[in-house]
Amino acid sequence: MLLAIALLSGCREEEAALDQRAAPQLLEEVVEDASTMNLPESIDTISPRIIAAGLVNVQSINPNIRVELKYATTDNFMNTNVYGGFRDAYLQPEVAQRLGKVQDYLTENHPGYSLLIYDAVRPNSVQQFMWELLDSIPVDQRTKFVSNPKNGSLHSYGCAVDVTLWKEGVGPVDMGAGYDDMRKIAYPEFESHFLSTGELTSVQYAHRQLLRKAMRQGGFWVLQTEWWHFNAHSRDTAKELYEVVE
Ligand SMILES: [Zn+2]
Repeated sequence: MLLAIALLSGCREEEAALDQRAAPQLLEEVVEDASTMNLPESIDTISPRIIAAGLVNVQSINPNIRVELKYATTDNFMNTNVYGGFRDAYLQPEVAQRLGKVQDYLTENHPGYSLLIYDAVRPNSVQQFMWELLDSIPVDQRTKFVSNPKNGSLHSYGCAVDVTLWKEGVGPVDMGAGYDDMRKIAYPEFESHFLSTGELTSVQYAHRQLLRKAMRQGGFWVLQTEWWHFNAHSRDTAKELYEVVE
């Protein structure tokens, strides 16, 4: 259990990678406390704020896209539902349109495959809540698990999406590392190495390549430390174009 928790993270974006020494033990202790902090599944306080900020539900753009927000469940690195009853994937309108094109590319060229979104817009208030849940971990260690809300995550601008491929009859495809897995085997930049050592199979490697090729159709690019995280804009551009969603 320790190993599983130790190697997970909260979509760190460009934060430094874990050096895997002191922090994992700390995280395990904190997560036991945090798991009592589940927000009630019957209450969604998030959607109204996001809609007021002008973001759109991606499934209203393309209903073939699937959504399963991991932070709306306890199946995440904190074992805690931090979204309450919030269940939908919202993005800035032009970003959602681009993701719709990605799904169209899959539907036309790879029938049976869909995008499965694990996280889209993540309001800064939620980022702050996650940050505070882990507040007994010193800041320099904490950024290894969750990015600092002060920095304005691209998720909080509605300009980033965590996504995998879903295949008909299979479900989420095997990527060789799960969502929020912090091990280097989740790093796109090391894929060729892990393929050569056999730690990634050719099928797992191909799945990642297909996801990336599809996402490029919408102008998204992958974060080099998380196979699932794609940006639609640089942070500078996002700041020029949009406000952080609180
Ligand atoms: Zn992400």
